[in-house]
Amino acid sequence: MKKELGIFTFQDLLEHFPYRHVDRTKINLIRDIRPDMEFVQVAGRVTSVELVGDRRARRLVAEIKDASGVLQLVWFQGVMGIQKLVQAGGEYLVFGRVSYYQGSPQLTHPEIEVKNAGAIERPEYLEPVYPSTEKLKTRGLGGRQLGKLTQSLLNLLKEKDLPENLPESLMEYPDPGMGQRLRWLSRFEAYRQIHFPSQPMIYQQAVYRLKFEELFLAQLRMGMIKSKRHRSSQGVVFERVGELFNTFYTHYLPFELTGAQKRVLKEIRRDTAAGRQMNRLLQGDVGSGKTIVALLAMLLALDNGYQACMMAPTEILARQHYEGISALLAGLPVEVRLLTGSSRSKARKEVLELAREGRLQILIGTHAVLEEAVQFRRLGLAIVDEQHRFGVAQRARLWAKAELAPHVLVMTATPIPRTLAMTAYGDLDYSVMDELPPGRQPISTVHRLEDRRPQVMDFIRYELGKGRQAYIIFPLIEESEKVDYENLMKGYENVKAWFPEPKYWISMVHGRQGSEERDTNMQRFIRRDTQILVATTVIEVGVNVPNATVMVIESAEKFGLSQLHQLRGRVGRGAEKSFCILLTSPKLGREARERMSILTETDNGFKIAEKDLEIRGPGDIEGTRQSGLLNFKLANIVEDRGWLELARAGVEALLEDDPELSAAGNRRLREFLQAQRGKTAWSKIS
Ligand code: ADP
Ligand code: MG
Repeated sequence: MKKELGIFTFQDLLEHFPYRHVDRTKINLIRDIRPDMEFVQVAGRVTSVELVGDRRARRLVAEIKDASGVLQLVWFQGVMGIQKLVQAGGEYLVFGRVSYYQGSPQLTHPEIEVKNAGAIERPEYLEPVYPSTEKLKTRGLGGRQLGKLTQSLLNLLKEKDLPENLPESLMEYPDPGMGQRLRWLSRFEAYRQIHFPSQPMIYQQAVYRLKFEELFLAQLRMGMIKSKRHRSSQGVVFERVGELFNTFYTHYLPFELTGAQKRVLKEIRRDTAAGRQMNRLLQGDVGSGKTIVALLAMLLALDNGYQACMMAPTEILARQHYEGISALLAGLPVEVRLLTGSSRSKARKEVLELAREGRLQILIGTHAVLEEAVQFRRLGLAIVDEQHRFGVAQRARLWAKAELAPHVLVMTATPIPRTLAMTAYGDLDYSVMDELPPGRQPISTVHRLEDRRPQVMDFIRYELGKGRQAYIIFPLIEESEKVDYENLMKGYENVKAWFPEPKYWISMVHGRQGSEERDTNMQRFIRRDTQILVATTVIEVGVNVPNATVMVIESAEKFGLSQLHQLRGRVGRGAEKSFCILLTSPKLGREARERMSILTETDNGFKIAEKDLEIRGPGDIEGTRQSGLLNFKLANIVEDRGWLELARAGVEALLEDDPELSAAGNRRLREFLQAQRGKTAWSKIS
């Protein structure tokens, strides 16, 4: 049982929740069995028991007869045990899932027991159905037996064994429907009722209570880590907003900041002035203008006598940031340098020296910046672009570069739904930029079947004729890399045939190229030497070519929602109207069709992320897969959003008043958490 279901302790048994309940007070007549019934219970006399079939297909077949008809029962496994129990002529009670075989109903692997003479003793409550495995069933530990074990355990337990853990202040909650305040079932009652409910209504209340508790405790643990970090971490202090920041803000900023940009800057300003280390995740949809926020934050560091660095995941992006930021700062006395894996050794040496001496103020680069050789005199702020999980190990490498841990700002354009972020990143400070700069023209997105490719190519030609550029993206998925690669090459030849030289020039980037070759090809497109860029998803993040107005995605059905949204974000970055064309095969599954229609309907990254979460489930969202933070026993962060929000609000209020849970009213919660930490006092089941 341990291995099969992961049940090791009494606590595990209590938390092995039934997935549904059936009304076992009812006995069905065989004549009444219908295909739409899921479970049936029949009482009658077994008329025959027979072993049929040879070796492989061997099975035990029995027939049971009641006043209305005959029903077949079949076992493929555990035949010996059943043979001992079931004898022709005996009276039995069977319970199981109905299946149809050659048009007649039968029960496969039903639970079976000898019917006691006379009245059958039936509990008056709904009976739980537990998940079990075939292997356990054949050893007599089917869902039924698990229920019996759980019931005897519950009979032994007293209220004090499952004491209330929620503080009194959280025992009441607003009824989602009616708005009046309701009281949770006690913890003890909730455990009883979730297994053996007296009524469906109370079962529901027990489920809600335990879901809330689960979400609340998870949020609380993270909230406590965060508040402890806030109280105990020491960070460099950016006391003032100085000359560089102000000069840049008033004279150099090419546009008015959006409300969201201003808000995030205030949050950063507050964090960095507080004397504790900032650890902030900034989420902003593609094109929401994160770079300028990063730059202003760096100027804040500089004004206070600190150095800053900014890291990007690829050379292309690092170079782009370097060039963009240098241009914005032109005329200001700021020393900005670039460091990447391919920096020549002489330039590299110089950069290292400048950084160490403190003469370099802003260092932009790839992860080469994290290398040990890179030492700063006074690093105050590190910015990580386009990566939402900047690992603990990497962070540690940053800390080794300064006496006091520098502030860290991690930026990502992969929108994560709020609920997911709350759960997965609840220990980080977290900002959202959910507003695009004004005047952006929305991107027109259409879905076309592959047989319309000629029209699509004509459209590209039309846009190129106006001096614009276009991307054509091919899927390249690791598992079938060779096939995809061949498709890419075929596609490239195809595009070349539509757009022949010398009128048109095409460049191509993909993951099999060396970084230098890829870089050269990319730069040709950025400099407008080529009008079309054929690419795989290597261009997914951050690339900014405002003159590109068309994005064609081949085999779009092979991409996930968030990825398509990211790709689309490569266009619509300039003043001209942009287009995204999703090309797919005509044979689309329901889910792929839904993805295409969501994209054509909205370009709000957060809405898309919510949909993605609904379609794929939390386990699949990038960066959260291994975190294990989302494995709840009962709760589901998509369906139980409401409870999650409530739990979140509860945690916030609680920690605001009493961050260490030392108040008398929070004693039971504190004790509960302590007991959990020392791993429960429950004794082990063998
Ligand atoms: P992302 O958040 O995707 O990294 P960028 O920082 O690259 O976005 O900004 C996208 C474009 O929007 C850039 O060309 C930038 O100059 C421009 N931009 C940023 N903020 C504003 C603003 N407040 N008003 C107008 N344009 C802006
Ligand atoms: Mg960016």
